[in-house]
Amino acid sequence: MIYEMPPFRPPNEGAEQSLLLRVTRGCPWNKCTFCAMYKGMKFERRDVEEIKKDIKVAKLFYNAAYGREPKTAFIGDSDSPIIKTEDFVEILRFLRAKIPSLRRVTSYARAKTIVRKREEYLRALREAGLTRLHLGLETGSDELLRRVRKGASAEEMITAGRKAKAAGFEISEYVILGLGGREFFETREHALETARVLNEINPNFIRFRTLVPLPGTPMHDKYVSGELELLTPHEVLEEAHTIIENLEVSSWVSFDHVSNPYPIPDAKLPEEREHLLGDLRFALSLDESQLVDAKYLICRGYL
Ligand code: SF4
Repeated sequence: MIYEMPPFRPPNEGAEQSLLLRVTRGCPWNKCTFCAMYKGMKFERRDVEEIKKDIKVAKLFYNAAYGREPKTAFIGDSDSPIIKTEDFVEILRFLRAKIPSLRRVTSYARAKTIVRKREEYLRALREAGLTRLHLGLETGSDELLRRVRKGASAEEMITAGRKAKAAGFEISEYVILGLGGREFFETREHALETARVLNEINPNFIRFRTLVPLPGTPMHDKYVSGELELLTPHEVLEEAHTIIENLEVSSWVSFDHVSNPYPIPDAKLPEEREHLLGDLRFALSLDESQLVDAKYLICRGYL
């Protein structure tokens, strides 16, 4: 490895060839029952001086690889704002000074961490050059959040989203379709509560994924034992349709993940709601053989 990179980043950071930096290793929570990303990895904060060395190397590496200066950067791993605010500010200032071409710097963040951070600390991170936070909402249902051990309530998700926006961040909220299996699909609780929470936050971006219960996670054990019944691709699309129908937000909606049944194009709400619902209805009209079924991704170990 030329320098230490985060093992995961959001798909759009790959599409935009973001410069990747790592300030922590792993996840400080690491208990969500559906998540295999950092399983078996001990959570660690990296040394600030080591990160500064990485920034210098990353810049050279990026220029050699892409023949241009980076425009965007992504900072991993799962919850960078958990480190001391003064350390993060120092890293961000150094990054911005070394790579002035950066227009956007983003990071994953846990809602619980944002709820705990004082507002002036969030503003300090924003002023030092962090511009966007990727937050895993997954669902707005309190019962489902509890069952998947997300470690935050719907109210905390709302508080975190609003607080980050008030501090000046763009925010990207992730939703997992099919997370509650058939039980939460039939009651529509996952869809309706997710729409309710998203309406309260009004994030800049809403990004959909579909549940793939990966081996080594408690969710996979539930699937294997028959306790969790996965949705069919048509049911996943129906759940997405219910969420979109109930959204009252001004957000970009994206299905930018291979786990989703069909490649629905990005759309801006509210202007493109009918277009987006039409795309979902078109996908719903397709034969099952033309859609991606999440259960066939399980063995590939793909998240
Ligand atoms: S979903 Fe996020 S918070 Fe939950 S264990 Fe995975 S990385 Fe950690």
